[in-house]
Amino acid sequence: MPRMLPQLGPDNRFFWTSGADGVLRCLQCQECATFIHPPRPVCPDCLSETVAPAAVEGTGVVHSYTINRQKWHPAMEVPFIIARVAIDGAPGVILTTNIVGSPVEAVDIGDRVAVVFEQQDDVWLPLFGKID
Ligand SMILES: [Zn+2]
Repeated sequence: MPRMLPQLGPDNRFFWTSGADGVLRCLQCQECATFIHPPRPVCPDCLSETVAPAAVEGTGVVHSYTINRQKWHPAMEVPFIIARVAIDGAPGVILTTNIVGSPVEAVDIGDRVAVVFEQQDDVWLPLFGKID
């Protein structure tokens, strides 16, 4: 279904194209190992400008969510879930995403999820589906 696509720029292009090889990546400070999301060119912890994309686990936990029932676009299928997913092994990284593959009623805070990339144009949207 059509989803809102992000604006790509020099800071975030790697993030939105990372799914091309099926790997989720976030920026990581090369000095202090802090993960940085959303992407920005300076580490918020140590102010280093030596930051680079690093592969992270493609799994995480539903941190919070909301059910969208509004059809923002005629082709949009509702309802669907907008969730914030905390990524395993990357403290502080919480992605705003959609949970796919389950009825909206079946999704809850604390659910384990894994990334499912959905390609649209030159973007690979990191969506998430429930796992056991
Ligand atoms: Zn740092």
